Amino acid sequence: MSKLRFRVVESAFKKKATAVEVPAERPSEYFAKYVFNREKMFKYLPSAVFAKLVDSMDNGAPLDRSIADQVATGMKKWATELGVTHYTHWFQPLTEGTAEKHDAFVEHDGKGGMIEEFAGKLLVQQEPDASSFPNGGIRNTFEARGYSAWDPSSPVFIVDDTLCIPTVFIAYTGESLDYKAPLLKSLSAVNKAALDVCHYFNPEVKKIITYLGWEQEYFLVDEGLYAARPDLLLTGRTLMGHEASKNQQLEDHYFGAIPSRVAEFMKDIEIQSLELGIPLKTRHNEVAPNQFEFAPIYEECNLAVDHNMLLMSLMKRVARVHGFRVLLHEKPFKGVNGSGKHNNWSLGTDTGLLLMAPGKTPEDNLRFITFIVNTLMAVYRHNGLLKASIMSATNAHRLGANEAPPAIISSFLGKQLTQVLDHMEESESNDLVSLRGKTGLKLDIPQIPELLIDNTDRNRTSPFAFTGNRFEFRAAGSQANSSSAMIALNSAMAEQLTIFKKDVDTLIAKGEPKISAIIEIIRKYIKECKPIRFDGNGYSEEWKAEAKKRGLDCETSCPIVFDNYLKPETIAMFESTGVMNRKELKARNEVKWDMYTKKIQIEARVLGDLAMNHIIPVATEYQSKLIDNVYKMKSLFPTDKAEKLSCENIKLIEEIAERTIFITEHVNKMVEMRKVVNKIECEREKAIAYHDKIAPMLEEIRYHIDKLELIVDNQMWPLPKYRELLFIR
Ligand code: ADP
Ligand code: MG
Repeated sequence: MSKLRFRVVESAFKKKATAVEVPAERPSEYFAKYVFNREKMFKYLPSAVFAKLVDSMDNGAPLDRSIADQVATGMKKWATELGVTHYTHWFQPLTEGTAEKHDAFVEHDGKGGMIEEFAGKLLVQQEPDASSFPNGGIRNTFEARGYSAWDPSSPVFIVDDTLCIPTVFIAYTGESLDYKAPLLKSLSAVNKAALDVCHYFNPEVKKIITYLGWEQEYFLVDEGLYAARPDLLLTGRTLMGHEASKNQQLEDHYFGAIPSRVAEFMKDIEIQSLELGIPLKTRHNEVAPNQFEFAPIYEECNLAVDHNMLLMSLMKRVARVHGFRVLLHEKPFKGVNGSGKHNNWSLGTDTGLLLMAPGKTPEDNLRFITFIVNTLMAVYRHNGLLKASIMSATNAHRLGANEAPPAIISSFLGKQLTQVLDHMEESESNDLVSLRGKTGLKLDIPQIPELLIDNTDRNRTSPFAFTGNRFEFRAAGSQANSSSAMIALNSAMAEQLTIFKKDVDTLIAKGEPKISAIIEIIRKYIKECKPIRFDGNGYSEEWKAEAKKRGLDCETSCPIVFDNYLKPETIAMFESTGVMNRKELKARNEVKWDMYTKKIQIEARVLGDLAMNHIIPVATEYQSKLIDNVYKMKSLFPTDKAEKLSCENIKLIEEIAERTIFITEHVNKMVEMRKVVNKIECEREKAIAYHDKIAPMLEEIRYHIDKLELIVDNQMWPLPKYRELLFIR
């Protein structure tokens, strides 16, 4: 054992990272080299086809099937010039990650030979033979098949020799089986609802765009060390491992110098991302050792999600080239920070306005306040759902675990914006001019821009923070598909804006002037959504008690948090916005519960195996050595002296015995418990049993393994330790 371990460690550290080939061109020249973007469409498509396709991309106009063939031909020409031989419908099933099935551009020519062909119908629609994707009972293999359909709003791109076509994945009966279909519906719902509200202020606006700028946190570990950790390999996290003596206490990693091996990896990712049209901009170290972050320039939400999914798979591939494995798990290491994916979210217009940024005139700022307060209302009314949207077996290790956002959704606004809202709430006047502050113009709506520019009082403990011109939904998990959070947020916002419009129109119909009606409703909302506003320390115990008093959802059990998807107000919200219906929501929850169960089940199996096959044998072997030593002492020294000299070893022998007995007994207990809970038929009940009964056992067993790690001979310990995993040399 020990030999293997040290051989692995050495070879991994010796591995020289290959220097990254930097393209001769500037980034602006190779950006989107492998994307069939407008520039290429213009070049490869007849102009009438180009115009129709652009209309479909920009305005969601249905794509005429007659032009599909011409689009496919143009695409194929472009792709084959770049050496592409295959194509795939690239989609995002509920398993996390992406799915693809590759087909070659070949067809029978009818004369016994083959021709290279790519027909429009293959571009537009496919039927992946994918009955094994989770569908929560919607698609019982033979009754209702699923198909994937092209999403022209996200451009086709090339990976290796394959043309990847972003698609939605839907059942023949119409229900969505993926993340993209409901995301697109939620974006269209926001567009409609926000446009109506925006027209109170800017009648010239034709379209509302939802923006997303994600920040992707991740860990890197050496490939050789990773290979020697079956838990990392099979579950994505370390199920055991004592904290290293040094980890993040000195706070010396955040924004520190990037190790050269890592820098090479980052450079490689950056180049390949830019070539794929992903506008990566930021790279830096994160708080924990070996933890890093990538962030792009924000983009339209659907495209941003696709780019994030693409980046995650790119990271996995490129890391291996550099002798690393990338860990996207939310909590790969106990005792150091976990990884999240911050979702910076905002709304903008086709005329270039950012609706969550203050403007130049009082009217601009009333529009700004309108969108901020409606966001707060949406988040308030659906705070439980928003938590459910980012909850998972893996992210549950962060939420409420005293380093990440707590398992309670609240919103941070900062001092200035809070003052503006307070002022608006207290003021009795309903016209913009008299909303001006009295002295110093501190609370003056027209003054907001200046005040917010230096909005630097960031609160890193808030799960949903206002950050100047956007909200940052920070609680999302690092490996999650951002769509889940975005579907919930967009839909809640769409519903809220629709209610707002109705409320305002009712007052207008009663004869109240528009501005006055808006101010009155906003004032009412400011009062109503107050419980969601919290600028204090989100990690504190006091906040948990306070949040409970305020009626916010404080549930921490992952399977129960998922119940939020089936609450009557949630179903009503998703149905009224046309995003998902009751049947889809129920099916999705079945998938969530099932996935939760499976994740814990796999962890329990892996931990059991490692405990019994790796840890117990090694601990026992070391214990035998100690026993041997005790006997030898006796033969060497007089009894009294031998006893004195052996007393510490005897304590160790006892400690090892107690801990190994505990581990063995509990592994057996865990196996028996699994047999019992596996019989539960209801997915929800089974997930709850896994949460309540199995998950705590993992922690108990781990505790004793970690203690053994501290006393067993280092040479014999069968797994790389945290101090080796966490410090790249
Ligand atoms: P920080 O770590 O301080 O939050 P970063 O620069 O790492 O900031 O990331 C900020 C992210 O927010 C980037 O992806 C950026 O493009 C995005 N972003 C900036 N403005 C907006 C906006 N109006 N809407 C959506 N995303 C935005
Ligand atoms: Mg951030």
